[in-house]
Amino acid sequence: MTDNKPIVGWKLETSYADLPDLLYTKQQPVPVRAPKLIKLNESLAAELGLNAEALRGSDGVDVFAGNQVPDGAEPLAQAYAGHQFAYFNRLGDGRAVLLGEQITPRAERFDIQLKGSGRTPYSRGGDGRAALGPMLREYIISEAMHALGIPTTRSLAVVTTGEEIVRESLLPGAILTRIAASHIRVGTFQFAAQWGTLEELQALADYTIKRHYPDLQDGENRYVSFLREVIKRQAALIAKWQLVGFIHGVMNTDNMAISGESIDYGPCAFMDAYDPATVFSSIDREGRYAYGNQPYIGSWNLARLAEALLPLMDEDEEGAIELAQDALSDFGELYHQHWLQGMRKKLGIFNEEPEDEALIEAFMLLMQRNKADYTNTFRALTMDKPEDTVLFGTPEFAEWQERWMARLGRQEESKEDTLKLMKSSNPAVIPRNHRVEEALEAAEQGNLCVLDNLLAALSNPYAYTEEQADYALLPEDSPRPYRTFCGT
Ligand code: AMP
Ligand code: MG
Repeated sequence: MTDNKPIVGWKLETSYADLPDLLYTKQQPVPVRAPKLIKLNESLAAELGLNAEALRGSDGVDVFAGNQVPDGAEPLAQAYAGHQFAYFNRLGDGRAVLLGEQITPRAERFDIQLKGSGRTPYSRGGDGRAALGPMLREYIISEAMHALGIPTTRSLAVVTTGEEIVRESLLPGAILTRIAASHIRVGTFQFAAQWGTLEELQALADYTIKRHYPDLQDGENRYVSFLREVIKRQAALIAKWQLVGFIHGVMNTDNMAISGESIDYGPCAFMDAYDPATVFSSIDREGRYAYGNQPYIGSWNLARLAEALLPLMDEDEEGAIELAQDALSDFGELYHQHWLQGMRKKLGIFNEEPEDEALIEAFMLLMQRNKADYTNTFRALTMDKPEDTVLFGTPEFAEWQERWMARLGRQEESKEDTLKLMKSSNPAVIPRNHRVEEALEAAEQGNLCVLDNLLAALSNPYAYTEEQADYALLPEDSPRPYRTFCGT
């Protein structure tokens, strides 16, 4: 008998399961009552070598729901630790399982993780579940970040479970299928360093180097080189966040991926009015993870990684500390160069002059003083419509504009080229908080159009199309500061 049903195309390997037992627990996802597909990322499915049509059928949806495990999977929950708001805790996947690693048609390896898939040995007091709103929120923001050109985990699908979960009220349960270069975190190394043997820590480090930094395998002190490379990727990543005004919101060490991807979209949001002190998360009362603090927190987290790696870097502790400090001391300058280069592009500057930084800083100060919207101010300059900014009409802005024009005059590129550079560096749209909320509310009522339209607008943020114009508008009245809550 022939069966014309398309096949999904899973090609899973389970290399993580070969690591020491300490680092994970085998764990099946907990089946759910009535799975329903809410969102499928067709282009990502294709990149992974998966058939979208098959994924929409029961073979796909049952996998996304955890009711069926695909061939080749060996589900497990990963162990990790983390400094959460500076306090060290033993953690782990409390509501997620790793199904395995999909090998793509381009021979890349990606983790397939179900988030919200039920209790695990690491759940502590939690129910192992997730609500629809936060999972769709992660879907929107992660896909927006990808489209902005920022390394990130991605979202393949969201299903509802047909079960309600208890939060402040009863909410529809959901599961996100998350795709990542890997889910190895700073906190994974902290876990191995704290509770593992030297051999177990080394096994994790060698595995991670092989997976993410294969060129370092045969180098001289590979653990020092590894630390240096992670520092480089994080400096580049956090600079990208700063340049688009992204606030992660919960930069705990368990939420920093070794791959250099942004991970864990809980209480994150994009800044509106420019202010380095901006905080959205309701639990971040002291502003530890405020916009302007993110580079500092990045280097703090990397210092925790360095500590975990010390015993591998040198048998002599003092020698190891010296190597670590030397590597860590590069972060500030690496970050600064990425940021400065990015800011030059945002202002259409091709070449380098020592005074550029002062010009940029003066602009930032103007935005801060006038509570100018970060994205839209750059957008207006990019569209050659400075009159659209709230800065326009003030003598300070006129003076700054003159300086900027003079600066642009000291490069060979045409005005057209300058505007082109700005267009590719300043997004016309970001996931604005009120637009995200609106899409989530409609989706919870069963209307997915609002979400689809938002995702379409965000899928090419540098396009400057007419359809995107509405998504750049600020909310009509925003009396209260926007607050985000932990994505539980
Ligand atoms: P997060 O703040 O999302 O990065 O999560 C921090 C830790 O809490 C991780 O170990 C999660 O697995 C765990 N966690 C979050 N929500 C739940 C939940 N509903 N049930 C079990 N564990 C959870
Ligand atoms: Mg987390």
